[in-house]
Amino acid sequence: SLHGTLLVGEPIETKNLGHSPFGHVGCVCRLKAAPAFGKHLALLKNQEGIMKSYRKELWFNIPKRRGFVNITRQVEACLEESGIREGLVLVNAMHITASVFINDDESGLHHDYEVWLEKLAPHEPVSAYRHNVGEDNADAHMKRQIMGREVVVAVTEGELDFGTWERIFYGEFDGRRRKRVLVKIIGE
Ligand code: ZN
Repeated sequence: SLHGTLLVGEPIETKNLGHSPFGHVGCVCRLKAAPAFGKHLALLKNQEGIMKSYRKELWFNIPKRRGFVNITRQVEACLEESGIREGLVLVNAMHITASVFINDDESGLHHDYEVWLEKLAPHEPVSAYRHNVGEDNADAHMKRQIMGREVVVAVTEGELDFGTWERIFYGEFDGRRRKRVLVKIIGE
């Protein structure tokens, strides 16, 4: 059994662990840097807890082409449902014309984003983009690229471990249809 063993200075191959560290509830693999061996890792024994894994899709249908939605409460609801107290939350858009990002919940800033993104990648003229053969959303791909695909937030004592003004947003750049955001939480 791996449990109870301590490996220092050897790179760990996950295939030797007999399970995916993220695949199911029931095992914990504590990886810790071993200072004497630089970037090599040590595998510590399983005594402290059980790793949990949680997954949920959030659905959105923004009635306009573009929009920003504060989804912090939905992510907090997922965290509460997961029962995880210490770990990490990943939140990512599952579409290549939408973003998930963290910033201030302030309407002036959101207006400024809209103006800035339209300067960088204006929607029109649609014919200015080579991507727009049979579709019109090249600008949305570019807006998504610069606003980002995902965020990762630390979970501490059962809460999202934010800076004072940090909130999570869904950014839509080609809306008027149903689209998904993935919430994945791992921890214990
Ligand atoms: Zn496209």
